Amino acid sequence: MTKNKAKLIIFTGPSGVGKGTMLADFFKRVDNKIVYSVSCTTRAPRDGEINGMHYFFISKEEFEQMIKEEQFLEHACYSGNYYGTNNKFVDEKISQGKSVLLEIELQGALQVMKKRPDAITIFIKPPTFEELENRLRGRHTETEAAIQKRLAAAKEELKNIDKFHYIIENDIVDKAVDKLIKIYNKETK
Ligand code: ADP
Ligand code: 5GP
Repeated sequence: MTKNKAKLIIFTGPSGVGKGTMLADFFKRVDNKIVYSVSCTTRAPRDGEINGMHYFFISKEEFEQMIKEEQFLEHACYSGNYYGTNNKFVDEKISQGKSVLLEIELQGALQVMKKRPDAITIFIKPPTFEELENRLRGRHTETEAAIQKRLAAAKEELKNIDKFHYIIENDIVDKAVDKLIKIYNKETK
């Protein structure tokens, strides 16, 4: 008999490594015992991004109000914008027996590791730094200045890779997602 164990899963990796691509595939392939935590952000939506699905797009003032009200499990300023995870959503889902996946950057990941030492932590790394840069540029979603900030953040993130339980190299998406599913099953079933 298998028993489902609701876990908090931190999913981190530099911008452009392919986290969004992997997760789109992952959520098509797994059961409904895991949910994606939709973050709040002050960054502008990209073409095709839907409010409430990709992010809750809110103003800086609204975000700062939510910080004051302690509505975030973690929050960080990344590349000039705020990003944060809603406390209540995470607690509700876990208490309903669902695992929750947080797709967050390093500073937020470190905050959650402190507050929730039982969280499972996964870092997605690129095959090479050059390939990361190619992917980030190839996405055509950021200005040159934003790309430079994200690459600088990526260097810091990669230095902290050893703090994570699992490291997955996203070389071929399918294979990387296979590994992610194995980890998910091992940790929750
Ligand atoms: P992130 O969510 O980590 O910022 P994305 O999922 O947006 O990254 O991926 C960045 C770009 O890299 C996208 O254009 C995506 O299609 C591409 N990409 C993702 N994974 C791979 C891969 N394994 N090989 C080649 N290109 C990839
Ligand atoms: P993007 O602007 O490309 O969607 O996201 C930029 C970075 O912010 C990514 O590394 C992404 O994982 C991270 N991020 C998204 N949501 C959150 C969040 O709620 N908290 C933190 N700390 N980082 C987040």
